[in-house]
Amino acid sequence: MSRYSVFAIVREGLRHHTGWPRAWASPEPRARYDAIVVGAGGHGLATAYYLGRNHGITDVAVLEKGWLGGGNTGRNTTIIRSNYLQDPSAAIYEKSRALYETLSQELNYNVMFSPRGVMMLAQTEHEVRGYRRTAAANALQGVETEFIGPRRVKELCPIMNIDGPRYPVLGALWQPRGGTGRHDAVAWGYARACSQMGMHIIENCAVTGITVEGGQVRGVDTTRGPIGCDRLGLVVAGHSSQLADMAGFRLPIESLCLQALVSEPIKPCMDVVVMANTVHGYMSQSDKGEMVIGGGTDGFNNYTQRGSHHHIEETLRALVETFPMLSRLKMLRQWGGIVDMTGDRSPLISKTPVGGIFVNCGWGTGGFKAIPGSGWAMAELMAKGEPGPLAAEFSMFRFREGRFIDESVAAGVAH
Ligand SMILES: Cc1cc2nc3c(=O)[nH]c(=O)nc-3n(C[C@H](O)[C@H](O)[C@H](O)COP(=O)(O)OP(=O)(O)OC[C@H]3O[C@@H](n4cnc5c(N)ncnc54)[C@H](O)[C@@H]3O)c2cc1C
Repeated sequence: MSRYSVFAIVREGLRHHTGWPRAWASPEPRARYDAIVVGAGGHGLATAYYLGRNHGITDVAVLEKGWLGGGNTGRNTTIIRSNYLQDPSAAIYEKSRALYETLSQELNYNVMFSPRGVMMLAQTEHEVRGYRRTAAANALQGVETEFIGPRRVKELCPIMNIDGPRYPVLGALWQPRGGTGRHDAVAWGYARACSQMGMHIIENCAVTGITVEGGQVRGVDTTRGPIGCDRLGLVVAGHSSQLADMAGFRLPIESLCLQALVSEPIKPCMDVVVMANTVHGYMSQSDKGEMVIGGGTDGFNNYTQRGSHHHIEETLRALVETFPMLSRLKMLRQWGGIVDMTGDRSPLISKTPVGGIFVNCGWGTGGFKAIPGSGWAMAELMAKGEPGPLAAEFSMFRFREGRFIDESVAAGVAH
């Protein structure tokens, strides 16, 4: 595959763009691979990529039941930040954010990482205290954040009304190198790099069963036939419990639909990301000009990937006091994705009761930002059979052992 460069664009321009190769190959599945990753979302593809890049394991298949990036990876609102409270979270999210800084160069694919700054508004005294505490924890963790006052908030985001009668803005937790990226491009960039290493990315191939013999994985059944392997990574977000069920164990995961919506495109008016956790909403402006808006999850477990009318109303009602301009905007599209929630709102990157099977899930409402770091940690786990320092605390057995990594404030609503 050729490298993308300014010279390639000129060359292809001269020959009417007839010579671009496919970004990734679409091979028939082989009977067996060293390692199989189920799920071609960002986390699955990043896992495969770092298996090859960091550990030299390239006999890998990534199996995807639909199309690449068609799960939550292609449905999220692309916020990237690392201002979490607990040390293990800050370590993996900051590793991830740092990898995003140079991901376009690394993958030779423009993932449009835009470190425009992320602010989490404090609209109650309780939040002020909480975010001051997080800023202090972040300082110790080497994560660059600060607590800023309302005047600075207004300077950074002039369209905001900071004097709301119900929820005045009292300050914000500000991460200047947080921001956004292009979600599809992250999946496409990793897929292209995996394909270049000779890995097989097999779309329209649902895993329907998992073969276990003597407590050890032997392979999977798929809609395109059985495939053998000694190492199996389950990286399927909202479907993780279903895959675990096929292998005969249970996961501490619940699946819920999380919705988002975008407005009609308007002129540039907001160049930061704002999250308002008290009122339950957040917003940024896409490069196309649409206001990208998100709220909370459905209040009941489900596997739908659809929006619902009351969510539009609830989310806009929550945000309109702080962003009065929303009352004049038309909403264009709405959608949902199935997120995988754990009780402490932290992920699982873990060995399982079955030898050779590893899980990476539980990123819930906030896993887009974690894709590079999560892939890095999961690849290490699959390659060595034991978690490295990034994944060590994220075992699925921590719930049994009472070692929660409580991120309900950092991750419960805000993505
Ligand atoms: C509306 C919304 C907004 C969000 N906003 C943000 C945000 O702003 N910032 C942030 O950091 N995170 C956000 N998230 C969360 C983020 O999108 C997810 O945590 C992340 O994308 C999960 O990636 P993944 O690769 O684990 O899962 P997915 O992208 O869902 O990939 C899993 C894949 O597994 C496949 N699969 C499932 N079952 C099978 C099977 N049996 N066989 C084969 N394949 C299978 C699915 O088809 C899917 O493609 C948001 C999520 C949603 C829904």
